[in-house]
Amino acid sequence: MPTIESVTGPLEAGDLGTTLIHEHLRTRDEANARQFPHLYDGDALYAAAVEAARNALDRGVKTIGEPTAMFLGRDVRFIERVAKETGLQAIVCTGIYTYDHLPLFWQSRSPDVMADALVHDIERGIQDTDIKAAFLKCAADEPGVNDNVEKIHRACARASLKTGAPIMAHSRPASNTGPRQVEILLEEGVAPEKIQIAHCGDTDDLGYIEGLIEKGVYVGLDRFGIEMYQPMERRLNTAQALLEKGYEEKLFLSADSCASIDWFPEEMVEMLMGEGAVKDWTISLTHDQVIPALKERGMTDDQLTTMMVENPKRWLAGG
Ligand SMILES: [Zn+2]
Repeated sequence: MPTIESVTGPLEAGDLGTTLIHEHLRTRDEANARQFPHLYDGDALYAAAVEAARNALDRGVKTIGEPTAMFLGRDVRFIERVAKETGLQAIVCTGIYTYDHLPLFWQSRSPDVMADALVHDIERGIQDTDIKAAFLKCAADEPGVNDNVEKIHRACARASLKTGAPIMAHSRPASNTGPRQVEILLEEGVAPEKIQIAHCGDTDDLGYIEGLIEKGVYVGLDRFGIEMYQPMERRLNTAQALLEKGYEEKLFLSADSCASIDWFPEEMVEMLMGEGAVKDWTISLTHDQVIPALKERGMTDDQLTTMMVENPKRWLAGG
């Protein structure tokens, strides 16, 4: 059985158990946090992460995919600390999360040089630790797949080919980024079953989502609770329709929750995410609301196991 790297060392693929593939223990701008540390209450952010981890464990979650890449404040020691304190297993990534901006360092270098940096994180360790990345992360959003975004996708693809690590790509259905993202990764030679297009549940255009699935990639229904992009009811309708069509082997359920996020002042988070939504947009949401609702709508136990246990294993370990 192949092993999968976690922040606390390699795991047997069979030990992943119930996995939320896309949840963040802390999200913040790393440059800002480094330059203005007085704006952050480190102890409170750590406590929030520990609380989230415990809430997940209480619901039977054994592992999370923690896709906090460069520019989202990646700090693998922080995640390791939470994992060691709580016992929650965490799988981390390497990659660059940007919709456009790249440091001059990367603007002047090729995708192959970037790929080598990513391979280092997978084979040697992240941020001078021996904690290894288990997957790659890239992103495309409102500006579309522009030159910098394309460079990162190609770098992730080449790092994946060298290491076998799968790729998670943040996408924006409203900007139709998914098809082009898949096209680039496939063009580079990545096997479709190594690719996960995140945030597909932000649309309820079934044709768009099925078009991606037909390419052989996984899609994330991974933002339950972010009402501003798609309300819960419509996300559930989408999941139900895809399950009725028998696509469970290509789907992930998650919330993309952030135990803390510095993107907005607190009062604005409430406003942006919609009335009543924010309090529920947590790591617990998938188990507290989404799974029970989908069961009521006819999801079988086998389908649930496929999405929460088998798909993470297959995507991360192959085979
Ligand atoms: Zn995310």
